[in-house]
Amino acid sequence: MPNSLVLITVDCLRSDHVGFMGYGHPTTPFLDSLAAQSLVFENGIVAGVPTFYSLPALLASRHAFKYGRDVVGLCEADVTLASALKNAGYATAAFTAGNPYLAPRFGYNLGFDTFHDFLELEPAPTNGLGSNSAGQSLLGRLNQVTERICRRLPSLGPIYDELYFQYCQHLATRATESLDSLRRYPAADVLVDQAKTWLASLGRAPFFLWLHFMDPHGPYYPKKEALRAIGHAEITPQRARYLNGLWTRGLGTARSHRYWQDIVPLYDAGIRWVDQQVAGLGDAMKKLQLWDNSVLAFTADHGEEFFEHGAGGHAPWTMKEELIHVPLFLHSSSAKPARLKSPISHVDVAPTLLSMMDVPAPAGFEGTNRWKAVQLAEEWDEPAIVDSTECINPNRSETRLAPRVLCVREKRFKLILRLGSHQEELFDLEADPGEQHPLPVCPEDGAGRRLLQHARRHLVKMQSGAPRLRLQARLNELRCQIETSVGPIGEQKSDAV
Ligand SMILES: [Zn+2]
Repeated sequence: MPNSLVLITVDCLRSDHVGFMGYGHPTTPFLDSLAAQSLVFENGIVAGVPTFYSLPALLASRHAFKYGRDVVGLCEADVTLASALKNAGYATAAFTAGNPYLAPRFGYNLGFDTFHDFLELEPAPTNGLGSNSAGQSLLGRLNQVTERICRRLPSLGPIYDELYFQYCQHLATRATESLDSLRRYPAADVLVDQAKTWLASLGRAPFFLWLHFMDPHGPYYPKKEALRAIGHAEITPQRARYLNGLWTRGLGTARSHRYWQDIVPLYDAGIRWVDQQVAGLGDAMKKLQLWDNSVLAFTADHGEEFFEHGAGGHAPWTMKEELIHVPLFLHSSSAKPARLKSPISHVDVAPTLLSMMDVPAPAGFEGTNRWKAVQLAEEWDEPAIVDSTECINPNRSETRLAPRVLCVREKRFKLILRLGSHQEELFDLEADPGEQHPLPVCPEDGAGRRLLQHARRHLVKMQSGAPRLRLQARLNELRCQIETSVGPIGEQKSDAV
């Protein structure tokens, strides 16, 4: 029976960009070799998109809206995977690579003895320019006036955007830079180094280690070594900055398709760097004699779109497979390698992991323990449910109440509901894996009826919410806003000398 756990989550990693799910480029040689000795869930489905609606499922086995829309992330009512293991005597640590939605403010430190979110690091400027660029200079003010004038005339707006973009690129090429200086989040090696130090300090105590990597998250500035490893050493920092600049400006579908083959290697190299660092972590665990007694769970919080369905990045509007279908495997010396086709939701992962380690699951977990079915090689029928809203900024209460988007995903059929526009899309993923030809939804029979019933049951379950927790969440938010403006509440501020 394994007595320790490593959970690895990779931001923005879609399932079809890893070798063990069929990708043809060398993004994951180590993870492929590990997956060959693991339980691979071929239909691993997130419970929400993006990060802030996804990770409550993995860390606390619950759906994002169980307590209502105002509770973003985890809250005091959650008994998390970390707190369950800490209560069982485990040492616990999390290293997350600067994702602001995984901060203690959103409850992700719950149950961890050591929690490092790297949010203290200053991110690189998004346009590749230093903070002393045009800013408040005479040139900067002139630019602001020009922009205001151009915005008043519809035909001049896009011309201004193009010229300003080219001007910024011209300025930035004069600066000496490297991919490392452009990166916005700490690379995987930074987290793994800290994790290794922490593991070495434990002795033989059972542990839970969570690592959340941001390497494939945009803007895409991978390590040079990783670009070389996937055969794209020719991409210079200047070229990477230019491509990211174009990409984040929102090019429109036609122009984005033109740059697709240039931008994807940058994304893939981020995956390759994670692969290489997980290999290093595995080596360190073997040296410390921790590997054989550990379960390693590998997955992603959601995928990434490259305009396959008209959108880029990971805003949740489309709910297509690029976003909701993620790699997922569990490696343990006590688990027989297998590939499973039944859809598994992220809400099921924590109870399954606890069962593998013989630790009782907390009563509040909403997911199903799949460990017994896996051991008996049984399939299951329940679909995975994916929650979201048309909201990309949950920090504002008005956007949190944006219309719901819901997806019900079976192995073969998939239903997407956009409640704001009363749109329904039904897909047969076997006949139409690219989700290009929606089928009519018949509420009277067939797959449409079955999936609508699942959606209805889920929506009714999520309706009750929890007024006290909602109020607490609002108060916390208010406190954060005040602290941002005037400094910490309830702490003596030291005078500057
Ligand atoms: Zn994310």
